[in-house]
Amino acid sequence: MMRIIVVGAGIVGLSVAYEALRNGASVTIVDRNPAGDKASHGNAGGIAVTEVIPASIPGLWKKVPVWMLDPLGPLSLRTAYTPRLLPWLLNFARAGTASEVRRISTALAAINGRVYDDLIPLFTQVGLADDLFRKGALTVYESENGLGNDRHEWDAKRALGVEVQELTAAQIRGMEPALSPVVKNGVFTPQWSHIADPKKVVDVLRGWLLANGAEIVRGQADRLVPISDGAKVVLNGGSEVTGRKVVVAAGAWSGRIASQLGDRVLLESERGYNTTIAAPGIALEREVIFADRKFVATPLSIGLRIGGAAEFGGLEAAPNYARAKALVKLAKYYFPEMREEGGVEWSGHRPATPDSLPVIGRSGPSSNIIYAFGHGHLGLTQGPTTGKLVGDLLLGRKPPIDLAPFSVARFSLKKGTFHESLSSEARTWPPNGEPSELVDDQ
Ligand SMILES: Cc1cc2nc3c(=O)[nH]c(=O)nc-3n(C[C@H](O)[C@H](O)[C@H](O)COP(=O)(O)OP(=O)(O)OC[C@H]3O[C@@H](n4cnc5c(N)ncnc54)[C@H](O)[C@@H]3O)c2cc1C
Repeated sequence: MMRIIVVGAGIVGLSVAYEALRNGASVTIVDRNPAGDKASHGNAGGIAVTEVIPASIPGLWKKVPVWMLDPLGPLSLRTAYTPRLLPWLLNFARAGTASEVRRISTALAAINGRVYDDLIPLFTQVGLADDLFRKGALTVYESENGLGNDRHEWDAKRALGVEVQELTAAQIRGMEPALSPVVKNGVFTPQWSHIADPKKVVDVLRGWLLANGAEIVRGQADRLVPISDGAKVVLNGGSEVTGRKVVVAAGAWSGRIASQLGDRVLLESERGYNTTIAAPGIALEREVIFADRKFVATPLSIGLRIGGAAEFGGLEAAPNYARAKALVKLAKYYFPEMREEGGVEWSGHRPATPDSLPVIGRSGPSSNIIYAFGHGHLGLTQGPTTGKLVGDLLLGRKPPIDLAPFSVARFSLKKGTFHESLSSEARTWPPNGEPSELVDDQ
């Protein structure tokens, strides 16, 4: 039976492990804190399949200075960290040209377009079917012309298959009476869903994997070493775990592993914050997205979660919970009846690439090492589909979508590498020497 090692027990690593186990592999998950509190535990819980436009878009740079003027606004860069961020920022700017946005959006629509095909069977199998609420989402605008200013984005989403229903203030308040009259208009996106509790999802999935034969090794993966018929994970302390294939799903920390292997990756921590209020005194039917102020409110089973913010300060910076508090104040403006007491604050590192696309595919140095990271704002949404796509790579099956836009080679400084990789992936399938089944000699 083929042994697969998955580094990282967040939603992405666990989804990969699920797919590998389901296909008959022996699975070992390595995590320095398997039940720990990383991005997958505390996110907003949105299955945001309608988010098919990248963060970097033409004209964004006009809004950035306005956001940055507010120290607790939706975007912040920690000054001391900015020099290290420059290559990422440069590539973020490059991703925002009209042609790049078209290319990236097509890739995002392809992956998001199969989210429910992969997520629903996984949720059903592990006992989470009742934790998915297919209620759509409301995006609301406070300024009369906010919706008009964003109409080109909504049109672009429509063109990619997203259902978009424009609503008046009265229609919005009919759907969510807790919203104050400051809301002027908005959009209903019925394809969006939310879940009961992100932490419950990873806890239940991890439990299911353990109950069904997966092994979890607690340890910090320091180095990956390709060997002729597989790869070794060297743990902090010197012990080793060897597999026929190793999948790197270490969230925002994956960049270190990839660079140690020799692949160039532009991956940054985009830190987000939220507060969960167990007894908010108001009820929401669905997730609400505040377009002008860039934050969201999700009615989870454990309370109302209010969150957002994009803070670029690296993985080591201490969190600034003033951001979480500022978002609660904003929420109070939109939900005047909301009670703020007893809120639990949290922050987590989104693994952000400059082009808003995850990295899914083989590493440069070894086809036995597969990357599955960099899902940014959409890791919960795209986790089960990433599991399916990586499962296909492990099996040597043709994935249901083109993986070329997700290749790590797009970050390479070697001229032509990305385009060469695009054409070779497109020309030959499966790539040379891959097994056709997960039942293997090891
Ligand atoms: C505030 C906020 C709100 C969000 N809202 C949403 C949302 O509504 N919808 C959505 O789809 N996404 C959302 N996201 C994004 C989503 O949470 C992430 O994209 C996703 O959780 C990333 O999952 P992951 O498994 O890649 O990483 P993580 O959950 O960070 O897991 C990585 C794991 O790898 C382990 N690890 C790292 N390095 C090593 C190492 N060297 N050795 C061993 N183990 C290691 C860590 O301990 C950790 O357990 C949000 C994120 C934030 C911060």
